[in-house]
Amino acid sequence: MAKNDELLHQEARSLASPSRIKYFDLVIAQGNGALLTDADGKEYIDLLASASSTNTGHCHPTVVQAITQQAQKLIQYTPAYFANPIAAKLSTRLTKLAPITRPVKLAWGNSGSDANDAIIKFARAYTGRQYIVTFTGAYHGSTYGSLTASGVSLNMTRKLGPLLPGIIKVPYPDPWQKAPHETTEQFVNRMFEAFKLPFETYLPPDEVACILIEPIQGDGGIIKAPTKYLQKVYEFAHEHKILFAVDEVNQGMGRTGKWWSIQQFGLEPDLMSVGKSLASGLPLSAVIGRAEIMEALKAPAHVFTTAGNPLTAAAALATIEVIEKEDLLHRSRKLGRSALTFFQQAQAKYDFIGDVRMYGLNGGIDIVDPKTKKPSTEIATKIIHRTFELGVIMISLRGNILRFQPPLVITTAQLDRAFTILDQVFSEEAAQKLRLPKNASELGW
Ligand code: PMP
Repeated sequence: MAKNDELLHQEARSLASPSRIKYFDLVIAQGNGALLTDADGKEYIDLLASASSTNTGHCHPTVVQAITQQAQKLIQYTPAYFANPIAAKLSTRLTKLAPITRPVKLAWGNSGSDANDAIIKFARAYTGRQYIVTFTGAYHGSTYGSLTASGVSLNMTRKLGPLLPGIIKVPYPDPWQKAPHETTEQFVNRMFEAFKLPFETYLPPDEVACILIEPIQGDGGIIKAPTKYLQKVYEFAHEHKILFAVDEVNQGMGRTGKWWSIQQFGLEPDLMSVGKSLASGLPLSAVIGRAEIMEALKAPAHVFTTAGNPLTAAAALATIEVIEKEDLLHRSRKLGRSALTFFQQAQAKYDFIGDVRMYGLNGGIDIVDPKTKKPSTEIATKIIHRTFELGVIMISLRGNILRFQPPLVITTAQLDRAFTILDQVFSEEAAQKLRLPKNASELGW
């Protein structure tokens, strides 16, 4: 038996299945930039950037060096009781990077999920109001609060009720809701009416603490809310003294070509959550917000044993340094443009490629049934499995959306190689040569 299979077989005896979203039988043993090596020594190009938590690529030398040096000094002493120099430095750096012009403070966490729970906590404490408004298709995390705030997969909430009370969901303005005859302005107005409906019927605006949104939905399919729509939601929030909070866990840290995705809209949030790429994949997250909101809770309402420890803080400082020194924001935009060209050309050639979206090096490509133009999970599943066989790791979201989020340090040669393989796979699908994997129905979200 190959090493990959043997390890997976062994692991399956002890690892509970809900803790993995199944795609491929793969054991990743090593990473370097945008390249990964499995337990059998096969090499892959990573178009997933470990679910966008390594914008700086795998094992970036600057990050590795920072972690190694810090590990020799101090790995952990609980930040819940005492400060450490490296996290103190990071908090200054990060609050300065935040897209908020008023005084800013932050609180550390260990994951994107707990950072979004923190948004709920701080928003409720500051406003004294109980309701939180979130969006369908969002993914905010796996803890009870962030899970309740999410709306992307029924399997995530099945058997878990009652969920956290006080969270109300409104429809996200995704492109599939737009009628063919509608102009963007008409679509925005219609979606904004749908947004306001709960407020006009059963949800008193003065009892709503915050609106939490991914300005560009990540796990929901890389979908950008129309700018005008988000501006209207923002104005509505301010009119009713509702806090405007953004989840930057997936789309932050340079992914879209700016530090934060909300900067694409020219809006200033009251609160935001950061995680994933913050420490190049080490477990560190933060909720960042206007200082007066962040002071609304009293100690020890938001402490964790390991959050903001020296090791993860050293990784985060190095990550920020790499993004700046290697100009990864610019690189994200530049490579994103060539990726958009590639996928648009593919769209013109292959009738199973629907909508193509790209915001920085960060894309969602819809796979559709050529006849009905409806989402095709079957074709997308065939494509990602064949791509995987040929040495490229890419997954699908919502069943039919190809998720394209390579590390921002990917070389142009690696990207071109990935495009050559993708084009080969698309042409094989067009020639009806691709087969579904046997366990297709168990795969994905
Ligand atoms: N928010 C967003 C937008 C995410 O994409 C994710 C992870 N996919 C999370 C929150 C949760 O982060 P974590 O898995 O680190 O808890």
